[in-house]
Amino acid sequence: MASSSQARCVFLGAPGAGKGTQAKRVAQGSGLTHLSTGDLLREEVKSGSELGVEAKGYMDAGKLVPDQLIIDMVKARIGGGDSAIGESGLLAASGWILDGFPRTLPQAEALDVNLSGDNALTHVISFAVPEEVLMGRLTGRRTCLNCGAIWHVEHKPTSKEGVCDQCGGELTQRSDDCNEAIGKRLEVYRSQTTPLLAYYGDRGVLKEVDANRSPDVVFQELLTHMQ
Ligand SMILES: [Zn+2]
Repeated sequence: MASSSQARCVFLGAPGAGKGTQAKRVAQGSGLTHLSTGDLLREEVKSGSELGVEAKGYMDAGKLVPDQLIIDMVKARIGGGDSAIGESGLLAASGWILDGFPRTLPQAEALDVNLSGDNALTHVISFAVPEEVLMGRLTGRRTCLNCGAIWHVEHKPTSKEGVCDQCGGELTQRSDDCNEAIGKRLEVYRSQTTPLLAYYGDRGVLKEVDANRSPDVVFQELLTHMQ
């Protein structure tokens, strides 16, 4: 992946599609920076930056952080904005993978406004997985209350049911991994994020990856797309 050092990528995929895991893996092997919206939000809040303080206000009130605030955070990281973390120049030069952003059409349009000409997106990868497979992946997920390790009742079981192999801690099902919550998350993805496939398809940067296969096979295919 020698030429991917300048890559500016977006990974699109429903919850459970595996895009976060793959983004991390591709970033590790290529020197690209993995920018997960969740991590970004946590880091800004922790750093006490102006954006972070504003975001915390919404989170503490139990409200969704507005699109514009997320856009400002992403901009601060990939160039063209101010951030307390202050590595925007570096990131812009080394290339990056956005994971979890954009997830709506207005977000995608705002990103395009900020990234034009030499800074335009180079790759948008869509992780395709049938919904019933996503349901199975997400409902079987168990998290260790003690160390945070993630297991799966079918695909990555612990040797003793309900007990973490790593630390002996108790396993739990996250509240947003119950059937009803998952159904809702998938519906939000379908209505808000799938329109991005046509949007990026029209721009000629979209590649679809069949992500209903083993992580190693998906990773190998990703590498061929990223060259
Ligand atoms: Zn554990």
